[in-house]
Amino acid sequence: MTEPKLPTYDDVVAAAGRIAGQAHRTPVLTSRTVDEQLGARLYFKAENLQRTGAFKFRGAFNALSQFDSAQREAGVVAFSSGNHAQAVALSAQLLGIPATIVMPLDAPAAKVAATRGYGATVVTYDRYTEDREQIGRDLAARHGLTLIPPYDHPHVIAGQGTVAKELFEEVGELDYLFVPLGGGGLLSGTALATRALSPKTRLYGVEPEAGNDGQQSFRSGAIVHIDTPKTIADGAQTQHLGKLTFPILQRDVDDILTVPDARLVDEMRFFASRMKMITEPTGCLGLAAARALGDSLHGKKVGIIVSGGNVDLPRFAELAG
Ligand SMILES: *Cc1c(COP(=O)(O)O)cnc(C)c1O
Repeated sequence: MTEPKLPTYDDVVAAAGRIAGQAHRTPVLTSRTVDEQLGARLYFKAENLQRTGAFKFRGAFNALSQFDSAQREAGVVAFSSGNHAQAVALSAQLLGIPATIVMPLDAPAAKVAATRGYGATVVTYDRYTEDREQIGRDLAARHGLTLIPPYDHPHVIAGQGTVAKELFEEVGELDYLFVPLGGGGLLSGTALATRALSPKTRLYGVEPEAGNDGQQSFRSGAIVHIDTPKTIADGAQTQHLGKLTFPILQRDVDDILTVPDARLVDEMRFFASRMKMITEPTGCLGLAAARALGDSLHGKKVGIIVSGGNVDLPRFAELAG
């Protein structure tokens, strides 16, 4: 079997050129309160303020902007009930590419409406009886659509790596960097940028405790598959790492940490009350893990990727109120 070709930091640099002027260069925020609590200097990269409310716009736009003319004409297909759906839909709209998004019948109405609002065609399926990957592949085969997966694609990984590239450019090298982990697109892209721009950084991926397949995989050396985990961190509800993301994580990441859901709720409250930011539970994984490390961060320069802010207000109130 031939090894898949892994993306490199050069691909992250090329992605940064493609998304320039399309993705927001999100702010890096600080808080004296949290710095005093941890005895460290923390830098929050606020991807909750990215277009569509999460970093996924970067990878999607980088991937779609490399379609050839036949691919552009036929269109793109993606399966997602979450942030990848909106990222692909908006990228497609900006690039004039038709988009089909496969979503579960019981997806939140607001997410379906947002995806349609970006001009995408939404195809629904029954998540208990139908296989979304099969539906996506059938649509791709029948109509010649290009399937863009949420994390295991070199252009997606390279696009996600632009988050950390911007962070290091703005604040310089870091002692620690904490990154939410689902399928590993964000973490593997971050790893490429980190090893190029701040090689001595201790780089941690952070998962919800209930869905620690990444930690199991990282520590055992083989991709572990789990059932869809029960966690409020819906952006990290993945069942396994990718064939491209896993070898990059193995090579470039220091460890994978886990956080219980209750701690994510605490950090949603912290971000709202102290930093005036709406964050989704998955976006809080990094800060929750940093706090758990306690004294080892004393006097250190610490980066936190706040990966997204998409949560309905009633849900936010229910969790954080
Ligand atoms: C998708 C997502 C993640 C996880 O990203 P992966 O690339 O799948 O590891 C984390 N946070 C948010 C807000 C997301 O949408």
